[in-house]
Formats: sequence, structure tokens, C-alpha cells
Amino acid sequence: MLSKAVRAGSVLNCARPLIPATAIKLKRRGIETKIPPETPSSLKGDLKLVTGSSLFNPRTEYRMVRKYQGRLKACILDWAGTVVDCGVYSPAVAFIDVFAQEGVPITMEEAREPMGTHKKVHIRKITESEAVRKRWHEKFGRYPNEEDVERMYQKFIPQQISSLESSQMISGAVETVSFIKKEFNLKIGSTTGFTSAMVDKLKTTASKQGYTPDCYVAADEVPQARPHPYMVWLNAIRLDVNPIQAIVKVDDTADGVREGTSAGCWSVGLAKTGNYVALNEEEIAALSKEDYERKISRSYEILSNAGAHYVIDTINDLPPVIEDINRRLASGENP
Ligand SMILES: [Mg+2]
Repeated sequence: MLSKAVRAGSVLNCARPLIPATAIKLKRRGIETKIPPETPSSLKGDLKLVTGSSLFNPRTEYRMVRKYQGRLKACILDWAGTVVDCGVYSPAVAFIDVFAQEGVPITMEEAREPMGTHKKVHIRKITESEAVRKRWHEKFGRYPNEEDVERMYQKFIPQQISSLESSQMISGAVETVSFIKKEFNLKIGSTTGFTSAMVDKLKTTASKQGYTPDCYVAADEVPQARPHPYMVWLNAIRLDVNPIQAIVKVDDTADGVREGTSAGCWSVGLAKTGNYVALNEEEIAALSKEDYERKISRSYEILSNAGAHYVIDTINDLPPVIEDINRRLASGENP
């Protein structure tokens, strides 16, 4: 129902603030709780102070919402399973080795389950799995604790760093990234579950193969890594890109997809080259049609369930997705 003030018409053109700024300041400090006496009597009863100094304006039925309708400005890419290391063998094998050294072997599936998160969190999550806890208890007569996690993580670091030296770019990734940079005028960012020391090794290896993103953010540079949004936001700052709707995040893991959605940007899952098909390019090519279908369907299922806006096979399928996001942004859609 329209307020008395609106019906009166005369106050609609009133240029003065609904409440003097000084009164709002006082209200914020909790000093002033009443509508100040100088407010025109015609407005009394129409203004509502809600929770502190928030003002409900009864003169309009509309609230203007600023909406981004420009194009994508940046693409933030994960590393393993997205642009390098098809099948994400390098960290998975390192996790298996570290647990084997403890005398509690884990399966490839157990090693891969928490993939995407900070590598120390990853080790902790493996130790929290029911089956691993049971095996650990059988071996040591107690359950794994934080000291065990720390010890294994310290063993994991050098092993992971040395294996990153031989990382191979995924077929077509270098060409696709340079194509989207040029064609869509995108800056390229990066996030990862690797720490800074690991990224330092990886960036040298990748650069030699022709891949150099415009910005690097590692898991140990933010308060919490995936699925939290901080690495995406730090990319936005370092790349000097806003708003968040102008960013697309691409990843092969569920937590990597959630990193994008929790940041508020577009989020794309890669099903074929990543952690859930879990095979290198030669192994994928050697699969029977049935086995390939089973694995790829499961991967699409996991990434879709994580909330991805799009799920595609590989980074090489990204250009039409970028076109589609640009079209959706132009028509008023947001992530
Ligand atoms: Mg990955």
C-alpha cells in the first residue's frame, strides 16, 4: 500500500535527505534512536529505521539493482588435471608413497578422493576416512592424529616438488589458452591445491612448454584454500579485474568447482582430463567404449553435483562456453 507521503505527492520532489546525515551517524553510534525532530511532519510514520541506520524508503516500490552486462574479463585455471598432468597422477602417486612409508598403504581411489584442496588438508582428510583409520588402528593400536598428518606432509612436500619437474601440459592446452586470451581478450589467472614452493617448480616447467598465466595464487597464500573463495578473489585483485561476474573459473575437481561458485563467479568443470577419469591421455585412448562411457559419466555426475555452471570434456572445449557466458551476461544473467 502506498504511504501517505507518496499519495500527498508534494514530498516526492523533496531534495533533502530523508534523514539528516548527522542523525544517521548518531544512530550508528547507538545514541539516537528516534526519528529526529527536524524531519518534516509529513514524513513521520513513513520512515522506518531498521537494524541500526538502515533506511526503508516507503516512497518507492522498486529497488535498483546494479547488474553487470559486460563480457568476461578473466579466466582462472586450475593446474593439475586442467592444464597439466592429465589424470592427476603426480599428487596421487605422492600421497600413496607417503602412506606406504608409514606402513599403512592406501588405494588410488582413497588417495584421490579429497583432490583439489590444500595438500596438507588433503592428507588430513585421507586420515579421516573410515577405512584408513581402521587400517591405521590395526597397525599402531591408535588412530592417526595431527602429528602424523604433519610428519606425512613434510615427507610429501619434497616428493611432490621433484615429481612436478616432469609435468606435461595437456594436449591443446597451450594453444587453447593463447586462443582465448586473444580472441576473448581474457586475462589468465591460476589457483591450485599446491603450495607456493610447488607452484614455483610448476611454473618453470609449464613456461618451458609455452604456458605462462598472468597471475599465480597458491593454496598457502590465503587463509583457507578450496572450496573457499579466497584464491579466486586474490586473482581478481592481482589481475585487477572486476566485477566477480566477469570471471570464469575452470577446474577438474568438485572442490575446485565450489571454489568458483563460492567466489561468485562462473564455474566450469573438466571431466575427461582430471581426477575422476583419473587416467593419462594414452590410457584414455586405450579404454573400451563402455569403460570410457562409465568413467566419463561418473565424472560429469560429480562435477555437476558440485554445482558447475558447465561441465565439458577438456580445456579445449572452453571457447564455446566463453561465448555462451558472454551471451548470458549480455542478456542480463549472472552466475
Ligand atoms: Mg586439478
